[in-house]
Amino acid sequence: MLSSKEAISLEDNYGAHNYHPLPVVLSKGDGVYVWDPEGKRYFDFLSAYSAVNQGHCHPHIVNALKEQAETLTLTSRAFYNNVLGEFEKNMCEIFGFEKILPMNTGAEAVETAIKICRKWAYEKRGIPENEAQIIVCENNFHGRTTTIISFSNDPDASKNFGPYTPGFIKIEYNNIDKLEEALQGDNVAGFLVEPIQGEAGVMVPDADFLHKASELCKKHNTLFIADEIQTGIARTGSLLAVCGDCTCEGSCERQPGTYTKPDILILGKALSGGAYPVSAVLADDNIMEVIKPGQHGSTYGGNPLGTKVAIAAMEVIENEKLAQNARRLGKIFRSEMEDLKSKCSLVKTVRGKGLLNAVEINDSPDSSTAWDICMKLKENGLLAKPTHGNIIRFAPPLVMTEKQLMECVSIIKKTIVEFHENSN
Ligand SMILES: *Cc1c(COP(=O)(O)O)cnc(C)c1O
Repeated sequence: MLSSKEAISLEDNYGAHNYHPLPVVLSKGDGVYVWDPEGKRYFDFLSAYSAVNQGHCHPHIVNALKEQAETLTLTSRAFYNNVLGEFEKNMCEIFGFEKILPMNTGAEAVETAIKICRKWAYEKRGIPENEAQIIVCENNFHGRTTTIISFSNDPDASKNFGPYTPGFIKIEYNNIDKLEEALQGDNVAGFLVEPIQGEAGVMVPDADFLHKASELCKKHNTLFIADEIQTGIARTGSLLAVCGDCTCEGSCERQPGTYTKPDILILGKALSGGAYPVSAVLADDNIMEVIKPGQHGSTYGGNPLGTKVAIAAMEVIENEKLAQNARRLGKIFRSEMEDLKSKCSLVKTVRGKGLLNAVEINDSPDSSTAWDICMKLKENGLLAKPTHGNIIRFAPPLVMTEKQLMECVSIIKKTIVEFHENSN
């Protein structure tokens, strides 16, 4: 097997430099653990940006993958296949929608949602052609296509990739007044929002923001579009972040007042438990029916291998009660980090929901402090990555036990306290 040094050197020499990874090479994963080629074991506190909520190489998902891989992998949608329908029924029931449109990556699903919203605007709302506008939020992250980066305000994501796609209005996140103001426009067709802004640094909005936003959208006959690619699939302690305080795993009467049903729901990442790229857009018939044969699609979208994997991945979420586990462990994690904050001035804020949490480091976003702490965490056997300079996101697989979590808490506390002492 290649050594870590050799693997890094190959990537440096032959791969485009479109990422800046922490210098650790992973060669094996199992549950909450990953290993490097030299055999050192780490707790994974990124979970591939919340794609492996079910843990690395979950046997139920891997078995589904293996079995289907030996049977049928791809048919294209030129023909029916015998798995897609089962997947579609399953997902519609779990998430409470009438229709689903399967794609592969998150960005493709966001693109799909934008296209559906625009078509709905012209065909159902009567907005003049090419005039539809979609409201988005500052500091959003929805993916990397040319249209999506057109409404990003991260210069790295957008600079020198123009010309940009028009038709988007940007407002402040978690500002209901600004949303109401923007909704006054005649041609506003949708509001695209992350229920918690993950990449921006785990920004949790006010408890009633999503509900109020969805009510306002309803009032203005505008589609409320939730990008739950990172927050969905049990990550924040409920099946979806829009479920609020409901802890069931779907297929239920959700509690009115807590559950905010989006008009369009976007899923990806953990929908397939990290084993195969599967994303999807869900909506009811009155919206999804604007898409007719030939108007949208993808060669791999809805393939038997991916859909079988997704069915198994969702079974794991339900069977192992991962939403409940995320909710319970998340509370413990945040209270332990609050305890650290009270003892160590290097910790500025602690925030999050379920097992999507962040610790903000008390230093300038331009400093390397958060990166340096992540390097120390790595040495101490725990992998996390800074986002936006001085914020460290902590998002372990949801299959973690309380005992493992407490071991991780002690690694994090010890590392940050020692780092602080050594830098004083
Ligand atoms: C990761 C992510 C995406 C993009 O998904 P890809 O599979 O990387 O294209 C979109 N929206 C959110 C909220 C994400 O976290």
